[in-house]
Amino acid sequence: MPSDYQLSELHRLLIEELEDFAVFLIDREGRIISWNPGVERFFGFTEEDFVGRNFADIFTPEDRAKGAPAREMEKAAKEGRSDDVRWHLCQDQTRVFVEGVLLRVQNQNREPVGFAKIARAVRQMHAAGSMLATLLERTGDAIYAIDREDRFVFANERMARLLNRDLDNVIGQTREHLLPPDFAAQLRASDEDVIRGGRSRPVEERFPDSGSGERVMLTAKSPWKDTEGRLIGLVAIAQDITERTAYQTERERLLEEIRRSNEALSTFSHVVAHDLRAPLRAVKVYTDLLERHLRAGVDETAREYMAFVKDGADHMEQLIESLLRYAESGEELSLQRVDTNALIENLRNMLAPIIQESGARVLSDPLPEVYADPLRLLQVFQNLIMNAINYCGSEPPRIQISAAVSDTEYRFSLSDNGIGIAPGDRERIFSPLQRLHAKDVPGSGIGLALCRKIIERHGGRIWVESTPGQGSTFLFTLPARTAAEAD
Ligand code: ADP
Repeated sequence: MPSDYQLSELHRLLIEELEDFAVFLIDREGRIISWNPGVERFFGFTEEDFVGRNFADIFTPEDRAKGAPAREMEKAAKEGRSDDVRWHLCQDQTRVFVEGVLLRVQNQNREPVGFAKIARAVRQMHAAGSMLATLLERTGDAIYAIDREDRFVFANERMARLLNRDLDNVIGQTREHLLPPDFAAQLRASDEDVIRGGRSRPVEERFPDSGSGERVMLTAKSPWKDTEGRLIGLVAIAQDITERTAYQTERERLLEEIRRSNEALSTFSHVVAHDLRAPLRAVKVYTDLLERHLRAGVDETAREYMAFVKDGADHMEQLIESLLRYAESGEELSLQRVDTNALIENLRNMLAPIIQESGARVLSDPLPEVYADPLRLLQVFQNLIMNAINYCGSEPPRIQISAAVSDTEYRFSLSDNGIGIAPGDRERIFSPLQRLHAKDVPGSGIGLALCRKIIERHGGRIWVESTPGQGSTFLFTLPARTAAEAD
């Protein structure tokens, strides 16, 4: 058994030295009968002021009206204790958010004699420790907690700045008091959503700001519960995304501008290429007529010049056709399910004469069904196969088409055993009119640019890997879509 001395020392320590807690006793009627220094520290009451008062005096008028003091005492009397987190009134009528427990006190015969209240102010954040407190203050995010009556229980400096107030004028105030009524109502509605859903959810909130008009905050809110799972309020962390949002808006505006100017350019090249066809046809027709007309009378040199004119006109015709196709590739896609096995089979038939003549072999693994514009996809495969045949080495062309499927995309590859492409040329060949071969192989330098445009319009990427002298592999992706999206 502890001696009387030990008990009184323990009592002194508990009651007097525990400055971090307000500890006091009340009798069965709710009259306060003791005091410790913690009471003065949290509630501002001196011993003379405090002892003799009714326990209900430190409750807010709202809680008193709801009968909270009596309910706490009843619960403690019945169950031994009653825990709560609520606002209490200080001596100067300001409010302090307190976490406390009311314990039943019995005499030696186990008869109830009164209660002991142990409380501490939540906003002191003892539990958080200095590390957490430093973090809360140093972070660039606004962090706050509100109780169920919408009063600020905690706010860091950043939050106070966002509200344009001193921290002292924030704690204990409602948002209705600190913000324009419409906006406060909007915040409350989103809080209620979180509380109803029981889960954290980021919401974009626009706080009025005297300087720049408004601050856009991305706020993650969570219901705040005590250790027994009862709802105390809501905690929130808000990240300032004003600059990021402005940047995003500007980026979208620029992209839209680029899209519009691309469209205009595409229409322009279409019109120009289209209108060039007619005069070119006239050049070709009249060159033929002139050749026939002069047939007998022209010498070797004149015949040679005539041939140059015709070659030039043919080349120009080819360029115009390619430009037209390139311009048209910017037009709306007609997306549908496409069986790429059937598409390659079609191409093999279409290109049969060229394949035979070059001795090429076009092999393909089983290929997936994709969601694409079938004509445009055909153009891509046709260009890649034709290039593999045109830029072959000394061996007959051997072309292998494969596909890899992941959750997010299909990745097609087309490998050849051709001359290959030097590292420095692997990007520029995808730009319009860029050719590595001037005369030896006919072409317009549009094919790969067209492929890139088509694949990018589908939301994919195209690139080449190659070992010069051994061959190249052209790879492209198409985004995978769910069956629901495709239908
Ligand atoms: P074109 O074939 O009309 O010149 P492309 O845009 O299709 O135009 O190709 C651009 C250039 O890329 C070609 O001139 C050629 O030099 C190079 N190239 C394309 N495909 C291959 C390939 N499979 N192997 C080697 N070089 C290639």
